[in-house]
Amino acid sequence: MSMILAVDIGGTKIAVALVSNGQIRAREQISTPSSSSPEAMTAALSALLPAFAAQADAVAVASTGIIDHGILTALNPKNLGGLDHYPLQAVIAEITRLPVTVINDAQAAAWAEYQVLPEQVANMAFVTVSTGVGAGVVINHALHTGRHGIAGHAGHMLADPHGPRCGCGRTGCVEAIASGTAIGVAGQAHWGENCTGQTVYEHYLQGDERAVVIIHRAAKTIANLVADLTISLDVEVVALGGSVGLAPGFLDLVSDYLSDLPQVYQPLVIKAQTGADAGLIGAASWVNTTNNA
Ligand SMILES: [Zn+2]
Repeated sequence: MSMILAVDIGGTKIAVALVSNGQIRAREQISTPSSSSPEAMTAALSALLPAFAAQADAVAVASTGIIDHGILTALNPKNLGGLDHYPLQAVIAEITRLPVTVINDAQAAAWAEYQVLPEQVANMAFVTVSTGVGAGVVINHALHTGRHGIAGHAGHMLADPHGPRCGCGRTGCVEAIASGTAIGVAGQAHWGENCTGQTVYEHYLQGDERAVVIIHRAAKTIANLVADLTISLDVEVVALGGSVGLAPGFLDLVSDYLSDLPQVYQPLVIKAQTGADAGLIGAASWVNTTNNA
């Protein structure tokens, strides 16, 4: 069984781990360089990876953003500003001298979530509601990344043509309404400019009517996203993850809004099961899948 160096690059943290047979053997985590310049990212990876690479046979990377043939581009520049067409695969290959595979982090997490489902499920989606809104889809037992790595960026499907402008440049995306960031922005009118998604959620749990409106709007938006994925892709299961997706009561709210729709729009909606290491485990697992194919 080969030892995989798994790397998960997010907007706030970079996690690395040695993964063997789906199990994490060693793990380390740093903050994503705040400058987000290409030079800062390369320096951070150069400091972090060599000690792990010495024990690994291959590298599997899950990263936020669009991964097109190993090149990273942030769809929403707010999430990884400064990294436009960053040659992530080539940089890590240079540092580690190992074969490197790179996929989007939500795609990787979807693959990890798919592994823990019953075998008869052929089509599923993973939706993460966190700083942004991401997704990954498994179609006919295979992770669908798309020719340009874009598949599953469902957070940028249209939720409301009159909604807020999204960081991607489109108006009214799901992410612009339902992400933790968007929830925080919506709360700023009531709780000041330092208001975050977490602030609003705490007010929501205390029954504050203003927070109830914001959280219900987000949950209804995610319910419609789940319905759209179901009617377009015939997914049987949707796993909901992320800090907002797993917040107390959020999944129940989404399920309530889904239950208002005709049956054909209602998949089985479950809590994501693989937790914070989903990206690491999913990327490592996907490398083994593609190598064995
Ligand atoms: Zn967008």
